[in-house]
Amino acid sequence: MMTEKEFLPKIAMSIHAHPDDQEFTVAGTLAKWARAGCKVISVTITSGDAGSNDPSKDASYKPVLAALREQEQLAANAVIGISETIFLHHPDGELEATLPLRKELTRLIRQYQPEVVVTGDPQGVFYGNGYINHPDHRAAAQAALYATFPSAGTRLIFTDLLEAGYEPHNVKRVYIHGSEKADTWVDISTTIAAKVEALQKHVSQVGDWKDLEKGIREWAAEDAKAHGLEYAESYKVMILIGEEDKG
Ligand SMILES: [Zn+2]
Repeated sequence: MMTEKEFLPKIAMSIHAHPDDQEFTVAGTLAKWARAGCKVISVTITSGDAGSNDPSKDASYKPVLAALREQEQLAANAVIGISETIFLHHPDGELEATLPLRKELTRLIRQYQPEVVVTGDPQGVFYGNGYINHPDHRAAAQAALYATFPSAGTRLIFTDLLEAGYEPHNVKRVYIHGSEKADTWVDISTTIAAKVEALQKHVSQVGDWKDLEKGIREWAAEDAKAHGLEYAESYKVMILIGEEDKG
């Protein structure tokens, strides 16, 4: 476990596949950073337009659902204290870690210049015996990771971005959630309530989940217990630029 538990970035970018992914996984950390003055930018790659199994719905419902879920994401982001929300409008359920997606994310990283990028684990396929990770999650994480390194910081990758004025930017750290090799536990005791409230904004997805607060608190307590904390979110943290390297 890292001893430096309280790293507080000034600018952070959260990159996820679907509306609600961020709330399930990292909202407590983002809320904590936002309260400490961090500017948090939230990037949602798809708008979750496949997120309904209602038998009365067909393809014509997809744009309606996308619009609804974007509103839910905006409401959740307001609870967390996120400064800026970006939707990339890729189709839900069909995401791949393509070069065009990597380039879109590279442009955003160069534009907003985050110190930290927060995303999932592209290696996470099986979680326990009951959940196969959604392929969109892995694709989003892989594109985000490789946009962060090497694309954002390397001048001569995607030179059309350079020509458009997006200078290279080096991200200091990547916080990867959902990793079986977690090495950092962020204490979210002061923001667990905000995490629950933000998740509850995704009414189309969790509206029927009666014990949502209990479930979220149990997961966060489970993550925390071996580390002397009440509630935590866990990460594998890649330190690409250490504090000792600072100018
Ligand atoms: Zn998802």
